[in-house]
Amino acid sequence: ERVEFVSFFDNIVDRFEMNKDEKMNFIRSMSNKSMYVWMDKDKITQVLDNIISNAIKYSPEGGTIRFAAQSTKKQLRVSVTDEGIGMPADTVDKIFDRFYRVDKSRAREMGGTGLGLAIAREMIEAHHGKIWAESQEGKGTTVHFTLPLMNQKRRGQS
Ligand code: ATP
Ligand code: MG
Repeated sequence: ERVEFVSFFDNIVDRFEMNKDEKMNFIRSMSNKSMYVWMDKDKITQVLDNIISNAIKYSPEGGTIRFAAQSTKKQLRVSVTDEGIGMPADTVDKIFDRFYRVDKSRAREMGGTGLGLAIAREMIEAHHGKIWAESQEGKGTTVHFTLPLMNQKRRGQS
């Protein structure tokens, strides 16, 4: 279905903001233009839920999480940045593999199966987008994804 992405994303972030720990800081930088995407709302909600839960799960108390949605000519780009534990450079691509978890002992305490990002990658690729991460151990992580924007009809066009 056709979805205006900025308000969709804002609503998801609102839901996390209502439930978050008081000390946690959320910072948004959303495009002020409307951005239309053809997508399965439930599936992209699942993708964002996992990315945002990870950012919270791997952040210290009182940590800051940044949310961005910007557009280029043909694409929408979303990023979620945390200032959490991060991960070694050589694991940043593996986190999208099924059941992969950085540091098994650490991960066990945190709960989860290690499937969240593998599912996210499948969903984003099914929408003709890309997903990737950047991270620095002890500094934090950013997960980015893109989705194709719908053609904006010009006025007068039917
Ligand atoms: P699930 O999502 O299935 O509940 P999970 O969160 O462990 O479990 P993924 O979401 O697939 O699984 O993430 C895979 C692994 O990548 C995590 O176990 C964690 O080690 C690492 N990871 C993911 N996001 C972050 C992040 N924001 N900061 C640090 N490590 C992360
Ligand atoms: Mg997860």
